[in-house]
Parts: sequence; structure tokens; C-alpha cells
Amino acid sequence: LIYTQLTKKHLVRLGKKGQEATVGFYQVIHEGLSGVKEVKVLEAESFFMRLFKSFTDKYKKNMTHVAVWQIAPKIMIETLIVTMVTGYIFFAYLSDRDIAEILPLLGVFGVAFMRLYPSFNAILSSISSISAQKFSLDILYDELKEADHKTTQTVRDTQETALAYQHSLELKGLHYRYPGSELPALKDINLTISPGESIGIVGKSGSGKTTLADVILGLLHYESGEILLDGINVFREISKWHGMLGYIPQNIFLLNDTIQQNITFGVHEEDIDHEALNNAIISAQLQELIEELPKGVLTVVGERGVRLSGGQRQRIGIARALYRNPKILVLDEATSALDNETEAAISKAIETISHNKTLIIIAHRLSTVKNCDRLYLIDNGKIISHGSYQELINKNEWFKKVNDLAATQ
Ligand code: ADP
Repeated sequence: LIYTQLTKKHLVRLGKKGQEATVGFYQVIHEGLSGVKEVKVLEAESFFMRLFKSFTDKYKKNMTHVAVWQIAPKIMIETLIVTMVTGYIFFAYLSDRDIAEILPLLGVFGVAFMRLYPSFNAILSSISSISAQKFSLDILYDELKEADHKTTQTVRDTQETALAYQHSLELKGLHYRYPGSELPALKDINLTISPGESIGIVGKSGSGKTTLADVILGLLHYESGEILLDGINVFREISKWHGMLGYIPQNIFLLNDTIQQNITFGVHEEDIDHEALNNAIISAQLQELIEELPKGVLTVVGERGVRLSGGQRQRIGIARALYRNPKILVLDEATSALDNETEAAISKAIETISHNKTLIIIAHRLSTVKNCDRLYLIDNGKIISHGSYQELINKNEWFKKVNDLAATQ
């Protein structure tokens, strides 16, 4: 007890420093390898190596101290016991007691000690270990608790849990302000979408399009207003709302796994619905690519999809969203310029999807939203105009200019 009380604080501090060093060196590994091309061309290897070494040195130093504090009680107890036994025999000898008399007593204590010692030592060492790992343990515990909560939300049967969507999806007076920001990113957003309609959100860069998509997806929580599905606030049952949404982000995150796993994303192999997978592949215009590959859907895409072109990655993202057969698809179009072939393939995929799904397209360029039923033009977080593509050309100067520019390219 004395030992653990005396060392506890120190061990927690060492553990915290060790954990911080771990975060540091993982970050350096991640950043160094993510930007490996720049690192090599700019010959910045030594910078990353030095940084990495400084963190590993810090980790090494702290963890060595932790190890010493963990082993110390074993050595201390052994020394203490041997000293006590020797001392006892010595004093017995000095006081002229018969050694033969005290030997059985010492024997009993000796056996008891040998039996108790391993467990006693294990307990002490574990207490030290818990103190040293407490900081990491707390972080891990919070993460796992959150992940557990999320698992129950994502493992769902989307078909059964989906909310009804017979009449309208209404965004009513939505306001959003980023934390720490003075100006609102969204102001009084009002729009209504009927089932099966496709709408495009257009506007200058920084006007609030992505923010609007994030608010609709429930990733950001609006300050005021409502999102109503057939008159019912969707955030009352966010899990059901998520269950009917498909999301295609700007940058598709790919696992270093098979095309099949990348499409079904998060579903165990034995639970894969192959019919849904095939439908998603066809709708996302991926079947040609897959037929060409010797291993088909079981082809591994490489780390972050390095073996795929930009367009193929986008189409895997579309197939991933379609696999769960969502009623509403939110597509945050890639901001980076895509080559013509890719852009045409994506437009074609969107056209196929739009026949039976409600589509909300966040358009950073205009080519993908030409066929939308309605476009909303956002400026400075506010909807300033809406109408069909042609109507917006007639109504809005900026829109006309961007359209003319796209036509000349
Ligand atoms: P768009 O998608 O139309 O290019 P965004 O929705 O990304 O525009 O951004 C809208 C506004 O919100 C911009 O002024 C931008 O600077 C601001 N903004 C975006 N993300 C953040 C953030 N995480 N924190 C603070 N402000 C942000």
C-alpha cells in the first residue's frame, strides 16, 4: 500500500508523457507517409526522421522509468525478506536462543512466503501497470464507449427502419454558425423536395453548400429551424433518418481491401447481400471495370485505392451509397477538376440513379446539375435564387457567367 501510494502519481505522469509521445510518433508516421511523394522530392526525410526520433526517445525514456518502477517492488521485497530473516536469526543467535527451536517457525514463514510471493508480486506489478496506463486507458474507454453507441446505430436494416417519405422533405428556416465564428454560415434556409426529385445546390466557393449538406446529414447541428419529413422532425429519430440517407462525399475514402468490401463497407462477408451489391455496381457504372479485372469484385484496390483512377474511386463511392438502397442521396461533388471521361461517367451514373431516388447534389461545378429538377443558388449562406438550370441563367448574372465559362472550356 505504501509503495503504490507513493508511486501512483509519478507513474500516472510517466504514462501520460509516454502516451503523448505515442500520439506524436504515430502522427509523424502518418503525415510522413501520406505526403511521401513531397517528402522525397523536397528531400525532407531527415526532418521527419528527426521528429520521429525525438518522439520515440521520449517514449523510450518514460517507458523505461515505468518498467523500473514496476520491477522495483520485487527486488525490494526480496531484499526486505532476506534482511528480516537474517536479522531474526542473528538476534536469536545473540540472545542465545536455540536455533533448532526457531527453524520450524522460520520454515513455516518461508513456505508461506514462497506461496504468497508470486501473487503478491503480480498484484503490485499490475497496480503499477494500471497507474502507468491510466491515461491511455481513460482515452480508450471513452472511445470504445462512443464506438459502442455508434455500432448500435449503424447496424440496422435500412429498409425496415426507414421513415416514411410520401410527400415532402422540408428545410425550414435553418440557421447554422460554426463554433467560434461570428457570422452564420447558413441563414434562413427554406426549401422543399418531393420524393424522386433531384435538386442541385450551387454557388460560389465558400457560400455554404457543404455546410448545408453537413446539416442535412446531421453531422452539424443547426442553431434554429427544422428539417421535416412528411411534417416530422427527422432528428427525433436520427438513426432512422441516417438509415434512409446515402452520402457520397467529395473524397471517397477507400480501404486497402477488395472492391466488394469497399462497396459494402462495414458489412461482414457472410452478411453481404449479393443482389444489392450487383445492383449498386450496375447503377454506379462499375460493371465494365469489374468484368475486366481477373478477380472481379474480389480485386484488392491497394492502399487508399492507389490502383484506381479518380473516376473509378468516385464510382465506388456511388456504389457504396447505393448498396444500402437509400431513399435520399446526398452527393457532395468533388471540388477538384475531374477529367472529361470521369465527369461523363459520373453524370451518367447520377442520371441513372435520379430515376428512382431523391437526389441532393452539392455542385462545385455546373456540369452535373444540368438535368436537376431544380437548382438553389446560395450566396453567403442564403438562398438567393432558385429555378431550373435555364431559369437561373436568365435570372442570375453570376450563374450565367459560370455557365458561359464552362461552355468555352
Ligand atoms: P462551400 O461548400 O460552398 O465552398 P462551405 O460550406 O465549405 O462552402 O463554407 C461556408 C462558410 O463557412 C465559409 O465562409 C467557410 O469559411 C466557413 N467554414 C467552413 N468550414 C468551417 C469550419 N470548420 N469552421 C469555421 N468556418 C467554416
